Amino acid sequence: MNKGQPRTPKTNDALDAERNSAGAEHVSATPPPAGPAELKLPTPSPKTPRQHAPEQDPAVRARNFTEVKLDFTLEQAQAEALRCIRCKDPKCVEGCPVNVLIPDFLELILLGDICGAADKIQETNLLPAICGRVCQQENYCEKVCVVGLKRSPVAIGDLERFVADYDMAVRGIRETPCDPPTGKKVAIIGSGPASLTCASELARLGHQATVFEALHELGGVLVYGIPPFRLPREVLHAEIDRVRKMGVVFVTNFVVGMTCTIEELRKEYDAIFIGTGAGHPYLMDIPGEDYLGVYTANEFLTRVNLLGGWKFPDCDTPIEVGKRVVVVGGGNSAMDAARVALRMGPEKVYVFYRRSEVEMPARAEEVKHAMEEGIEFHFLAAPVKLEADANNRIYRMQCIQMQLGDADASGRRRPEPMPGSEFWMDVDTVIVAIGQGCNPIIQRTTPELRVTKRTTIQADERGETSLAGIFAGGDVIRGGSTVLLAMKDGRRAAASIQEYLLAKESPVPTLPLSPVGHLPDGQAPATGGNAVSLSPMAPATGGDASKH
Ligand code: FAD
Repeated sequence: MNKGQPRTPKTNDALDAERNSAGAEHVSATPPPAGPAELKLPTPSPKTPRQHAPEQDPAVRARNFTEVKLDFTLEQAQAEALRCIRCKDPKCVEGCPVNVLIPDFLELILLGDICGAADKIQETNLLPAICGRVCQQENYCEKVCVVGLKRSPVAIGDLERFVADYDMAVRGIRETPCDPPTGKKVAIIGSGPASLTCASELARLGHQATVFEALHELGGVLVYGIPPFRLPREVLHAEIDRVRKMGVVFVTNFVVGMTCTIEELRKEYDAIFIGTGAGHPYLMDIPGEDYLGVYTANEFLTRVNLLGGWKFPDCDTPIEVGKRVVVVGGGNSAMDAARVALRMGPEKVYVFYRRSEVEMPARAEEVKHAMEEGIEFHFLAAPVKLEADANNRIYRMQCIQMQLGDADASGRRRPEPMPGSEFWMDVDTVIVAIGQGCNPIIQRTTPELRVTKRTTIQADERGETSLAGIFAGGDVIRGGSTVLLAMKDGRRAAASIQEYLLAKESPVPTLPLSPVGHLPDGQAPATGGNAVSLSPMAPATGGDASKH
């Protein structure tokens, strides 16, 4: 068995952490020291070690649900912003899925104008306090940060979070300027990051967006999946309030496909966005998965995060973890499930992952936090059978060692079982976190909607589905993905919906079709509006008439 070791021997980050270990005292949202902002920018200092925000002590936090990581102090934020070398062609902006104007907001931090920095971020991202906490910056802006070529990249995510929290503490949630009402109505299905972004961008353009959410709480995975010690609920609620203040209407306990169909919504609304995510968990398909004590991560996290299961019997939803918990999987869900389980007081929590540590899709920071908290990792190992006692309750699990073969379609090396390497392990709870597919309700009740074999909804490069005026984005088109890619899709869909609505308002005259389906000789094809498209799925700039 390969037990978990810290990820790498000593990275730049680890060295930075040591240098910062004295841990500046945590002062959240300290106002800038004095007077008007200095207008001259200080000289960049990329050689300064990367700043590290203070964190709760692992031994203490492993038993509570309060936030693990805290904010930079103002001094730390300014020292970190000074590490940016202000590249002429800033790769970080391209690297960010929602193109936050990173160098500009870092400059404003240096000038002491933290609220101005918040305004700058909000030009392209209305959920900065959420993103600063859960975005996988290491794969986006920080991955392409030029300072990172030789040293640790600038801590852009932590700076975004600092600015957002500071602004919220000082100015609260303010109204975001929106264009005058257009009278157009758009239905948004689901309330995860894709939908919140699409709704807010449409509201900025003056359209009336109404969000329909199946659950009783808003936020999608942000509320039912990601635990409060990573994303405090007051932060989530405050940023959803920002969207509400823009005039977006939220309707909860409303399952599209059951409460009403897409076709019915279509009669009421000028356009529709589907952002229903991928909340349908996969199972391992091994004997014993239906025993008591076996959960999917989705069910486990929902019971705890959304229904307060850890407070049972003071709440209605029981959840019990016993003494030995095994979480199967290597993604963010697995890390969250393991860390939540740990906080419920078992003797031991193990993570079993069938590939090696290098292939783990979870955020590096979450893996590091889980290891620090005492979760034990077993790499290259997978369960093959679960066994129950006379009461149908799981009590042990058979596993097998794996070895890595050639790369598979995902580009990761394929895990292969090693014959004869089976072993048993006593266990009270198993949490299966091996991925999720789309919930198929809308797909089933809207047969004209084109879907893939994996039941993700097909959308073109503008986010439009096979049905005119119906757009989709986020996990429902990508399968499991990330918060920022979902937000990127939400923004793209809002821009496409705008084009679609404008095209509907001032249609380009339709050209007659010749009998063989070609344009009359000498006429150029129309590019937008309700012009006839000669190919049923040909992308059009404004509304694809073939789909109407
Ligand atoms: P979702 O967030 O899934 O929201 C979809 C919403 O639609 C849900 O609220 C659902 O109830 C609702 N819905 C579904 N069907 C209907 C219907 N028929 N009618 C009405 N409403 C409906 N990504 C990161 O970048 N960083 C992380 O740290 C991270 N951690 C994660 C932790 C967990 C436990 C999980 C499961 C995922 C994590 N991810 C993370 C992935 C990320 O959360 C998702 O990629 C992202 O939330 C997808 O956003 P979405 O808007 O497409 O869908």
